[in-house]
This record gives sequence, structure tokens and C-alpha cells, in this order.
Amino acid sequence: MSQREWVEKDYYKELGVSSSASQDEIKKAYRKLARDLHPDANPGDTKAEERFKAVSEAHAVLSDPAKRKEYDETRRLFAGGGYPRGGFAPGGAGGFSQEFNLGDIFGAGGAAGDGGLGDILGGLFNRGGARTGSRPRRGSDVETETTLGFREAAQGVTVPLRMTSPSPCTTCHGSGAKPGTSPRVCPHCNGTGVINRNQGAFGFSEPCDGCRGTGSIIDDPCVDCHGNGIQNRTRTITVRIPPGVSDGQKIRLAGQGEAGLRGAPSGDLYVTVHVSQDKVFGRNGDDLTLALPVSYAELVLGTTVSVPTLEGRVGVKVPPGTADGRTLRVRGRGVPKRGGGAGDLLVTVKVAVPQKLDDAAVEALERYREAEKAAGFDPRAGWAGA
Ligand SMILES: [Zn+2]
Ligand SMILES: [Zn+2]
Repeated sequence: MSQREWVEKDYYKELGVSSSASQDEIKKAYRKLARDLHPDANPGDTKAEERFKAVSEAHAVLSDPAKRKEYDETRRLFAGGGYPRGGFAPGGAGGFSQEFNLGDIFGAGGAAGDGGLGDILGGLFNRGGARTGSRPRRGSDVETETTLGFREAAQGVTVPLRMTSPSPCTTCHGSGAKPGTSPRVCPHCNGTGVINRNQGAFGFSEPCDGCRGTGSIIDDPCVDCHGNGIQNRTRTITVRIPPGVSDGQKIRLAGQGEAGLRGAPSGDLYVTVHVSQDKVFGRNGDDLTLALPVSYAELVLGTTVSVPTLEGRVGVKVPPGTADGRTLRVRGRGVPKRGGGAGDLLVTVKVAVPQKLDDAAVEALERYREAEKAAGFDPRAGWAGA
């Protein structure tokens, strides 16, 4: 059952009840009418049979509270007449009952196009008014993902992405017409794609049969896309990933999405970037992190260690007396920032303890322990747990 029938039919009148009737009143009225009008009680009476059908239909809708509500809403919207144009945002679902299937008004599926409600209502109540018609529809946005190496993501990289998606037909350049011909404006609807029709007190907009609602007629369709201007193509696009992307980040590439119908603008492409881990580096925003293994002697005496960076190597000075776990900052050697500059390289020193030493080293260490004690070093001086 379509909303259009709902607009035309007064189920309350069929059942002889008021529009504020309770469910009980509706049930009673229906039972009585069903009994009176039942074909068994009226053999051969086609009028009674029709009434019986109408009453059953009315009851089917009104006895179901959800359906009844929808029916009431539909009638309020369309039967009230003069519904304010632009009361709803075109194309938006705002304020409209979700069960309200706009496709039913047109008797065609998939109505939530960009003409939207404003156009439908305009077509219904502002008959003869100017319409923009069926505009070419922008292509959909497309999502894809790619996985980058840690360093690629940090430094930026150009990657090829293979995608299968609808693209403008290369033969007709998206027009849908055979090369050398072009679509003409539909004479039935003057290019609006919609026919306005009067039925009783109401006006309806229906998609034009002549052009199937597109507003134009293609006499010689392009053989490669059968006239819709779109081909499914596997294409490889080269995407420039800017430096500094992080794991999970989404990058928008304008106009790289799905092709629009008949030459309309393409949608956008969104690439979700996954970044794989690196053996050496970690990341903290724009800063690059690095754990640097050092010996105890190196921390005590100080040293300069060559550490890797994204571009090469850099000498990091470990000052004498550096505590284990301290982080040394090398400015400007981190991840490139958007708009210039770079984060820092954060080098955290970590003592590596030898598991095996030769006799000479052990002996030296034992001598050192004594010397340390003699020098008055107590590692647990001032320790709260002492
Ligand atoms: Zn084509
Ligand atoms: Zn038409």
C-alpha cells in the first residue's frame, strides 16, 4: 500500500469513525461492518464486496497503532495542502518519519536523491513552479586503505592504489551518448525529469516515463556504458601521502572518488593509512623516539654515540654522569611537520648489563667496586626503602 493511496483514502470515513476514535471504537466499527458487508451475507452483491475490501483495508491500517500514526502523518502532510515549501531541508531526512517511504510517492524505488523533499513538496503544491529538475548527481565518496612502512609514513611517500570503482566512461566521457552525438532535452518533461499530475484535489510529481527521470534522452547510447556514462574500471591512482601521517589517519583526496552520473563531479576518495611498526623508532606525535642501549661505563664517563635518524645518522652526546633511563633530545630530527619544520628525536638511554665477562673484566669490576666504596658512593643513600 502506498502513501499515495493513503492520501486519497479516508479510512476513518470508511469505518464511520472519527479520526480521534480509540482502538476499541475502531475494532467495534470494523466488526459490525465486516459482518454486514461480508460476501457470505451478500451473495452476488459486488458493491458490498468492494465496500468489504475497503473496510478491511482501513481496518488493517488503523488497527495497527504504528501504521495508523504513519497514516495520520502522511495525510497531515499532504492532505493539509499548502505545506510550506522548504519546511524540510532538501535531501535531508530531518523531521520526516523514517517509515515514510518517498519512493512510494513516485511509485519508484530509491527516491532519496538530491532533488529531495523540497522538490517533491514543490512538485506537489507549487505545481507549475520552476524546478531545477534532476541535476546530475555527484559521485559517491570512496573509501580505501593502505599500509605504509614506518619511515614512509614519517617522511611522506607516493603510493599506487589499485581500485575498482565506477568511473566516467572513457568512450563517451560520461555523457552516455555515442561519441559524435549528444543527449537531448526530454520533450515530455522539458528536462525536469518529473511529470506533474492532478488526481482529485492533489497534485503529484512522478518521474517522467520518457526519460526515466533523468531529464534527457539519449537516442544513440554509448555502447560501452549502455548510456549511463559510467564504467566499472580498475584503476591505479598514484596518491601522494604527506609526511607525518600517523597510524589510523584518514586522508581525503578530492575528486578521486566515484564518478558522477553523466558527467557530474566525482566524489572524494578517503584513504585510511595504517602504519607498520619499526624495529628502531617509535613515534610520539611529531617526535621520533629511540631507545639507545649503553654500558654503565658510558653513562658514568660520558660518550658520543652515533644513532640513526630518518635521513641518516646523528651523533648524540651522552654527558658524564647521565642517569639510566634519561631521555636526550635532538632538536629537529624527528618527523616532518605539516607546514615545515620537524619534531625532535628523543633518545632514551638504557643500560645493557653484560651476562658474561672474561676474568680480566670481572677482576677490573671487583677492583672498581672497592674503589667506588672507598670514594664514598652508596647507591642506596637517601633511598626511602632502606
Ligand atoms: Zn559511454
Ligand atoms: Zn522526461
